[in-house]
Amino acid sequence: MARINANYRKLSAGYLFSEIGRRVALFRQENPGVKVHHLGIGNTTEPLTPAVIAGLRDGVDRLATIDSYRGYGDEQGEEELRAGLVRFYRRRGITLHLDELFISDGAKPDAGNIQSIFSSDSVVAFQDPAYPVYVDSNVIAGRSGSYNNNRGDYAGFVYMVCNEENGFIPDPPQDKVDLIYLCSPNNPTGAVATHKQLKKFVEYARKCKAVIIFDASYSEFIADPQLPRSIYEVESAEECAIEINSFSKFAGFTGVRLGWSVVPKALTAEEGEPGELHRFWLRRQTTFFNGASNIAQCGGIAVLSDQGLKESAELIGYYMENARVIRDGLLVTGLNIYSGVNAPYLWLKTPGGLTSWDFFDKLLHEANVVGTPGSGFGPSGEGYFRLSAFGHRENIEEAVSSVKKNLRL
Ligand SMILES: *Cc1c(COP(=O)(O)O)cnc(C)c1O
Repeated sequence: MARINANYRKLSAGYLFSEIGRRVALFRQENPGVKVHHLGIGNTTEPLTPAVIAGLRDGVDRLATIDSYRGYGDEQGEEELRAGLVRFYRRRGITLHLDELFISDGAKPDAGNIQSIFSSDSVVAFQDPAYPVYVDSNVIAGRSGSYNNNRGDYAGFVYMVCNEENGFIPDPPQDKVDLIYLCSPNNPTGAVATHKQLKKFVEYARKCKAVIIFDASYSEFIADPQLPRSIYEVESAEECAIEINSFSKFAGFTGVRLGWSVVPKALTAEEGEPGELHRFWLRRQTTFFNGASNIAQCGGIAVLSDQGLKESAELIGYYMENARVIRDGLLVTGLNIYSGVNAPYLWLKTPGGLTSWDFFDKLLHEANVVGTPGSGFGPSGEGYFRLSAFGHRENIEEAVSSVKKNLRL
């Protein structure tokens, strides 16, 4: 008799986006003809840039002739793309070797799969709130106890609380943990860890022989040159950190699908030798994954060209101007906004002590604007709310003026 992986039963219901959809559908039904504005999406909306389109077309053309056709590519991804990434890191003073880079079909799969190279009884720490994949993948792998509905957390996990007091970047855990997930700039809070804050985590990880899994998917949105865009800007991080990144938010590849992970050869785990985790990730990927699309990889090579980088910076500039419009517009209403300068998300405190969901309803009913309740990202997100800067400018402007005009604070 087949028995199922009962860890799936432990997962808290995939409640957030389906519940948002349900409440918006109900609102539309009860208020036909009312325009609903969206400031809730974590998805890109603007077209790919010309250099990238040319790269993707070139990828298609190469498949059209007998001389240039290729089937499966290099196990770790096209060498030209990895060489582009080596240059990308070198500009920040980081030296990586070609074979420390693993091209993937995105940061979400890598963030979900990376846990499989670690012991199933690892103690895992997460930023709270955080992108749900880190927690959920470890629940499925059996590293948690059951979900506590009242508290909104899983037994056995270590939650590193991010709140107003710590500027939404936590200190390393008090106790010894084995794995630590960090995301900077963070989704949902938009908070960015400073060099000093990352250094504390690297020192902790080296002391405890823990491994940091660093999601840098929003690194290119950092405007402040003092803030680190890679964990490897911290000395010795290559001994204790894996970095995951993606072309999704960087260059609008959410639907194209392309990402990468860095698993340094110097990385070590408690009883392992240097190089072993690197070998295991290669083994994992060659067993379960057959490479990113070669067309997408041609697009990625184009992103990393001088022209491609210039165009991606402009694309990011567009979204960050959206963020500025939201931020400036909402600050005058008296709402408390903590981010939106180095990340495409604005994290705000719900007014008057409302719960995240109560504020969701208020914003929808009074201003007809949809955002994302902070409580959907972890227990410490309660009382907070996420707005997203992804969207077309005119829609963003309409949403902001509706909030200014109609939200009763
Ligand atoms: C959007 C997002 C990703 C992107 O994942 P892809 O699979 O590359 O599209 C990864 N991490 C975080 C925190 C994100 O918000």
